[in-house]
Amino acid sequence: MPVKFTPEQEAFREAIADFAKREVGDKETRLRLTNGGTEPTSMEIVKKLADLGWLGVSIPEQYGGSGGGMVDQAILLEGVSLGMIPAAGYGTTAIVQGAYERFGTEEQKQAMLGGINEGNIEAIVMSEPGSGSDVGSLTCKAEKVDGGWVLNGQKTWCSNAQISANILTIVRTDTEGNKHQGISMIGVPAGTDGMEVRPIPTLAGPHEVNDIFFTDCFVPDDALLGEAGNGWMQLMAGLNKERLILASMYLGIAQRAFNDTLDYVKERQQFGRPIGSFQALKHTIAENATELECLRLLIYDVAAQIDEEPDRVFAKEASMCKLKSTDLAKKIALDGMQMMGGYGYSLEYDMEKHVRAGLVGPIFGGTNEIQKEIIGATLGL
Ligand SMILES: Cc1cc2nc3c(=O)[nH]c(=O)nc-3n(C[C@H](O)[C@H](O)[C@H](O)COP(=O)(O)OP(=O)(O)OC[C@H]3O[C@@H](n4cnc5c(N)ncnc54)[C@H](O)[C@@H]3O)c2cc1C
Repeated sequence: MPVKFTPEQEAFREAIADFAKREVGDKETRLRLTNGGTEPTSMEIVKKLADLGWLGVSIPEQYGGSGGGMVDQAILLEGVSLGMIPAAGYGTTAIVQGAYERFGTEEQKQAMLGGINEGNIEAIVMSEPGSGSDVGSLTCKAEKVDGGWVLNGQKTWCSNAQISANILTIVRTDTEGNKHQGISMIGVPAGTDGMEVRPIPTLAGPHEVNDIFFTDCFVPDDALLGEAGNGWMQLMAGLNKERLILASMYLGIAQRAFNDTLDYVKERQQFGRPIGSFQALKHTIAENATELECLRLLIYDVAAQIDEEPDRVFAKEASMCKLKSTDLAKKIALDGMQMMGGYGYSLEYDMEKHVRAGLVGPIFGGTNEIQKEIIGATLGL
């Protein structure tokens, strides 16, 4: 292991691996917990993670967490994916956690961070049907009224909304100025009148993402997070951490797809020898192993830098992590499927799941083309 973790962090990694083996070690259990593989998150498992205190790993102690940092959170995110622990909802929860830590009032922090500690899942939505990569073009609006805000419009692609306690919604509160002005963040509690959550079927099944429709949806003043009109700046302050969160999840997916491939090619015999001994497969595996080590170094190095300088914006580094991690997970999963032949394509093995996860990684959280635009811009291009 090239990354230098503290003894506590090593113990945390081992504990997560043990938990995965114990609670979701076989496919049958995973299918039972996820309604036949159609639910990315099992609330039963989330509750267990909360009871262990792990969901508060990077929440400050005064809000009931363990006060860890980005490295600790990355360890959890990687470990959840690596162990195929059905708790995908922790990804968006971690993103929302960061936004409230940065911009929440004391009451908002107590409520939001305390809720996460206890096992709440949280969602965030920027995307709209007409506003994807160009987030600043969003039109879903919230109007100021006496005592609160009234939301109208549509959001889309909201991960985990169906199981979330709140949906942190990025809305337009003012049409004056340029497109990045007049944007605000508003937390809408699940079940609020005027908010409809409608699932969008995807390759991952019927419960991955959702459309959200707002029709005269009223929320009180304290639903506003941070400053009205300052939402773009608030989003930018958090997107870097968001990218590292996604990158850490995809590091775990990449490692799991790699491990599953390695196990298979050592076992499977053709022409009287293990297929992994054929140079065509061996070299691909060696390359992927090397790339994985590079990725792990990059991610934990950037996470450690964030812990050292939490207020610095690591735009280039965080985009590099997201780009590399999701591209590599996709490659390793597709390589794995090819190396497993027909068995990789069958539902009997997990490789098809890794491939489906791999395919979407370069699309969400800002597409990888957009990550390259950001990296290019930091290089003066
Ligand atoms: C499974 C899943 C989960 C998601 N979860 C969430 C969520 O929880 N919250 C949320 O807000 N959103 C979420 N999204 C939305 C996701 O962030 C968007 O899909 C993504 O940002 C791309 O937007 P788009 O799909 O509208 O594609 P578009 O923006 O229309 O892009 C289409 C293609 O054009 C390329 N392109 C666009 N502009 C440029 C450019 N300037 N330079 C180069 N290429 C460009 C893109 O890279 C892409 O290949 C999710 C999406 C998926 C599929």
